[in-house]
Amino acid sequence: MSQGPLAPEAARELVLGEVMPLGVEPVRLEECLGRVTAGEVKSAISLQPFDNSAMDGYALRAADTQADQPRLRLVGESRAGHPAEVAVGEGEAIWISTGAMVPEGADAVLPVEDSSEADGQVLPSRSARSGENIRRAGEDVEAGQVLIPADRQLSAAEVAVLAAAGIVEIECAQQPRVAILGTGDELIPPGQPLGAGQIHDSNTHALTALVREAGATSAHVAHLPDNPAATRQALSAALSSELHQLLHPAEVEVDAVPAVDVLIVAGGVSVGRHDHVKGALVDLGVEERFWRVALRPGGPTWFGVFAREGGRSTLVFGLPGNPVSAMVTFHLFARPALRALTGLDPNAGRTRATLATAYRKKPGKAHYLRCRLELTEDGWRAHLTRESQGSHVLTSMLAADALAAIPAECEEIAAGEQVEVELLME
Ligand code: AMP
Ligand code: MG
Repeated sequence: MSQGPLAPEAARELVLGEVMPLGVEPVRLEECLGRVTAGEVKSAISLQPFDNSAMDGYALRAADTQADQPRLRLVGESRAGHPAEVAVGEGEAIWISTGAMVPEGADAVLPVEDSSEADGQVLPSRSARSGENIRRAGEDVEAGQVLIPADRQLSAAEVAVLAAAGIVEIECAQQPRVAILGTGDELIPPGQPLGAGQIHDSNTHALTALVREAGATSAHVAHLPDNPAATRQALSAALSSELHQLLHPAEVEVDAVPAVDVLIVAGGVSVGRHDHVKGALVDLGVEERFWRVALRPGGPTWFGVFAREGGRSTLVFGLPGNPVSAMVTFHLFARPALRALTGLDPNAGRTRATLATAYRKKPGKAHYLRCRLELTEDGWRAHLTRESQGSHVLTSMLAADALAAIPAECEEIAAGEQVEVELLME
C-alpha cells in the first residue's frame, strides 16, 4: 500500500494503532529504576510502622510537665532499633533518640534542648504538649494503601518508597527489545580513521542512546553495507529469532533469543540507486503502512509491520539516514511506540511555547525545529538551538529541549507567536 506523504499526526496514529502492549515480568528493586509498573503497588505495612520520636530528648507524660519546676525520674532509654524495656509511669521519663519507638505510657517527647539532667532526674525547662514530637504510625502510609499507580515510570522517589515499604520485587511491563541497523558504505565506526568519502557512524549510537532513554533495550545493533544481498540477510535475521547467528556466527548451537518488538533501520530507505532497505523489507513480508511523511526533517520515513508467530508483531521503522532526521523521526514515531508498548502515555510531553524569532518556510510540510526552552513570565519561550536547521547539522540537536512544530500550511510564524512543542525528554 503506497500513498502520498502523510501528515505527521496521521503517521503517528498509524504507528500507535499497531502497538500491542507487552507482557509483564517481575523486576527486582535494584533494577526497577525507569521501568513501568504493570499494576498498582500496595504497601503491606504502615509507614512508619510504629509511633516514634521526631527528636532526641525525653519521652514523658505531658501532664507531668505542667507542675511548677517538675522533676522526672529517668527510668530507661529507647534507642533507634532498641525499644525501651520499661513503660513511662507517672513522674517518669525515658531518654529517646530520633526514630526510636515511643515507649508505652509516654504521650510527648520533650527535646533535649528544652531540659536539663541531673542526678538521674530530668528537669524540663518548659511544659510539653500531648503528642508533641511524636511521628504517628501510618502518618506517611497506611497498611494496604496504594503506593504507586499502574503505568508509572519509576523514578528515584518511587524506588525510595518501595524500599521503605520493604518491597523487593515489582511487576513491571516487559522492556521493548529493539534491533538497530545502520546502513551505508560510507560509515566507519567511531575510533577508526576516516578514508576519503567516509564518515563516522553516528546514527546507530544516537538510536541506541535514544532507545535506552525511552526505557527500552537495544537487543542488537549492526551496520550493513549498501548491498542488496547483505541488506536482505541482515534484515531477515533481525526480523526472525536468528539475531544470535549474527552476534555469534562461530557458535553452532546457541539458545534462540526472542524476536525483537521493534526494528529500526536508519539510512538506505530512500529512492537512491543504492537504497535497498524498503524493497528487502517488503520482500521479507513486512507490510508497509506508510512511506513518506509531510515533514521536515524526516520526510523519507517508512513504517511497516511484520506479523510473527503467536499473534505478535514487530514494528519496523525505516528512518532517514541524515542524523538529525533519524533522531527527529525517532522522537516523533518510534519513541511514542516504545512508550505505548510499556503502557506509558505516548503523547506525553507536549506543550505550547512562543517562538523567540520569526520563522518562514514554504507551505506543504510541517517543520520541527530544534529549540531550547526558556521559562518566562508568560510561559515557555522557544529559541532555535542553531539558525541552521539542516538535517545534516547534528549539533542543532545539542542543548535542544524540544521540537517546535510549525504546521504544514503555515508560511510564516512571527516572533512571539505560539506553537506546539514536543519535549525531547520528560
Ligand atoms: P541515506 O538515508 O542512506 O540516503 O543517508 C542520508 C545521509 O545520511 C547521507 O549523507 C549519509 O551519509 C548519512 N548517514 C546515513 N547513515 C548514517 C549513520 N549511521 N551515521 C551518520 N550519517 C549517516
Ligand atoms: Mg545511505
